[in-house]
Amino acid sequence: MDKEKLWEKAIAFHGHVCPGIAIGYQAALYAIQLLDLTFSEDEGVVCISENDACGVDAIQAILGCSVGKGNLLFHMTGKQAFSFYCRKSGKSVRLVLRQRPAGMSREESLHYIKDGEPSALFDVKETKIALPEHARLFDSYVCECCGEVTGANWIRLQGGKKLCVDCADSYNRFSV
Ligand SMILES: [Zn+2]
Ligand SMILES: [Zn+2]
Repeated sequence: MDKEKLWEKAIAFHGHVCPGIAIGYQAALYAIQLLDLTFSEDEGVVCISENDACGVDAIQAILGCSVGKGNLLFHMTGKQAFSFYCRKSGKSVRLVLRQRPAGMSREESLHYIKDGEPSALFDVKETKIALPEHARLFDSYVCECCGEVTGANWIRLQGGKKLCVDCADSYNRFSV
């Protein structure tokens, strides 16, 4: 594993260097080490992030977990915590960033995180959420109001009509 290459990849994807991207970089490297992961071309690796801050970008770039593939999910708690799952082995881990020593500058923070030992940066805990099912494909329906197509799980039944979320909402607005 060429760590410097992975760091460059994360920075290129994110657009700038910051302590946040270093958190995600270290979380991804630690997950690779603990779960014996490789870049996920399909949905083999799943990440549930508890925040939508800079670090998530490193996980996308390094592990191939992405919203579009359905293997990057959010369970928002605002914590610097990430759960990783390997579908093949069934193994999982939840990494929670420890408190940093107080009084560090942004630059010191960056180096503390980027060059630190992952085991010193994160608490390793058991995942609290079961491995999510594979991303499903849903049938398509045409909204009977606007004529636009959407997936079955987004269709609302209202007055016997199949409506998209936008049209169902506008219908509600007049009744309250
Ligand atoms: Zn950033
Ligand atoms: Zn509609």
